[in-house]
Amino acid sequence: MAEAHASPPDGQAPSAETIDQLRLKLENIVGVENVITDQAEREFYSQDIYKRGELVSLVIRPGMIDELSAGVAAATQAGFTVAPRGGGMSYTSGYIQEVPGAVMVDMCRMNRVKEINTEDMYVTVECGCTWSQLHEALKDKGVRTPFWGTLSGIRATVGGALSQNAIFFGSGQFGLATESVQSLKVVLADGTIVPTGTLSTKGSTPFSRHYGPDLTGLFAGDTGAFGFKAEATFRLIRKPAFEDSVSFAFDEYDVCADAICELTRAGIASEVFGFDPNLAEIRLKRESIMKDIMSLKGVATGGSSILEGVKDAAKVVLSGRRYMDEVVYTANAVIEGNSKAVVEAGIAEARRICKVKGREIANSIPKIIRANPFMPLNNVLGPEGQRWIPIHGIVPLSKAKETWKKIYDLFAEYKERMDKYEIIHGFLISGASTNMFLIEPVMLWPDERFAIHERTLDDAVLKRIPKYDFVPEATALVDEIKNRLCRLFLEQGAAHLQIGKTYLYREGRDRETWKLLEGIKDLVDPQRRVNPGSLGLD
Ligand SMILES: Cc1cc2nc3c(=O)[nH]c(=O)nc-3n(C[C@H](O)[C@H](O)[C@H](O)COP(=O)(O)OP(=O)(O)OC[C@H]3O[C@@H](n4cnc5c(N)ncnc54)[C@H](O)[C@@H]3O)c2cc1C
Repeated sequence: MAEAHASPPDGQAPSAETIDQLRLKLENIVGVENVITDQAEREFYSQDIYKRGELVSLVIRPGMIDELSAGVAAATQAGFTVAPRGGGMSYTSGYIQEVPGAVMVDMCRMNRVKEINTEDMYVTVECGCTWSQLHEALKDKGVRTPFWGTLSGIRATVGGALSQNAIFFGSGQFGLATESVQSLKVVLADGTIVPTGTLSTKGSTPFSRHYGPDLTGLFAGDTGAFGFKAEATFRLIRKPAFEDSVSFAFDEYDVCADAICELTRAGIASEVFGFDPNLAEIRLKRESIMKDIMSLKGVATGGSSILEGVKDAAKVVLSGRRYMDEVVYTANAVIEGNSKAVVEAGIAEARRICKVKGREIANSIPKIIRANPFMPLNNVLGPEGQRWIPIHGIVPLSKAKETWKKIYDLFAEYKERMDKYEIIHGFLISGASTNMFLIEPVMLWPDERFAIHERTLDDAVLKRIPKYDFVPEATALVDEIKNRLCRLFLEQGAAHLQIGKTYLYREGRDRETWKLLEGIKDLVDPQRRVNPGSLGLD
């Protein structure tokens, strides 16, 4: 018979007694040291990079899949809502809660690389593993995953990326993070463990994603609404032996967009990305000359040979910062291949595309990023300690310029009010696969910082930057503009990564599609205990 317990009434904070009963159960499952009750810690776990959510009642840190399964089951049986948290490096209310009293599940202890199989070409990791940890584990094996991380990968996890559909390293050729995964082990609301891909074949291994309906895909990009990704298996590829990069400047946004779209269509680059002049300027303020020079140590060893590395380093030193003064809009392409000839052909093609209306500049930015892919995340705040929020959309290449123009028009409409609160904006743009244009306006403004920012920034940076008081009017205005941008993206038919509780996913769904999603949620989480509100599912 099930043990009697007092469930928290739906929508209300659980009582101290109910929390205490659950705490004892969870301590038995994950150990006393892995159940967090401290108020300040719980406040930290109740915020993301953009927003504070409702206070969670407990945080657990399971160390293995059985603990995760038992912990989730205990919490949901006791009537608590539960939410998965990876590195916490998101800003769309993905894991923070709208109702107080949830149990937050921090995946950080489940970070093992379980199997590297270079014969069958796959790697299996626990989903709390960061991209940086996976990179280290594969570094000397001559292989890597096709998509191999986000710029936040020093803290952001494999589980976070698979739940958000992340983009960056390798995306030019291999698309989103979720396109590189084969099999998952997912823990559902009642603690059931479900394998997907060929991992679900009795006696088989996770060597392939596809066998019958794509159940791996069912959980991909769910922003933690359908369950807890405990383990993931990725396809491996041989690490390309050669790489080079090339950068261009353009005078206008539309010619830059054209170039990025054409680079994307050509499918020649592993990463295609650019900045507008505002973001380039913000980046310049952020990165001291000294730090750029320090990072050249990495550039010097990251080249395809020592001699080329030294040449690269010299080129970056000589041109490093001054060239940016002249830059208006930029496009960068990183080209990889298994022969020098392939890389040279890719570089030549990028030049052919971009030199029609642009001019070549030193490739310092892609060199620095590639040499140190997983840098400390000092950009969770602006260079002068401002708050920072990116809002993005992915549009078809044919809508790149039009969407960019509409966003400019929207910022123009708000100019006076933004100036009043010193809200500045910039753009990151990127291509993925041969068919996606990602446009990411960012806003920065002086405002109160959170514990999550302080714990993410390097101490030296924290000491240097000013601290601001809470400015409710500025926060409200940023929120208003963010909501307008989300609507603009909806009207453009855009897709989004990291849907969380921010983008208008539900509103934009076809009615029958939404019914199917509700049905899936009912099946995997009938009591609606897992991360309510995520994807717009209550
Ligand atoms: C400085 C900076 C740079 C960034 N660069 C990039 C970039 O290059 N590309 C990009 O796409 N994004 C980027 N991001 C956004 C973000 O870091 C990524 O989307 C990243 O994948 C989030 O991973 P995380 O482990 O921190 O996830 P979290 O923030 O912890 O969680 C994100 C979502 O995933 C869910 N989730 C986490 N783990 C699991 C799990 N195991 N099972 C089920 N659900 C889970 C959470 O509930 C939440 O909904 C950046 C963010 C910052 C701050």
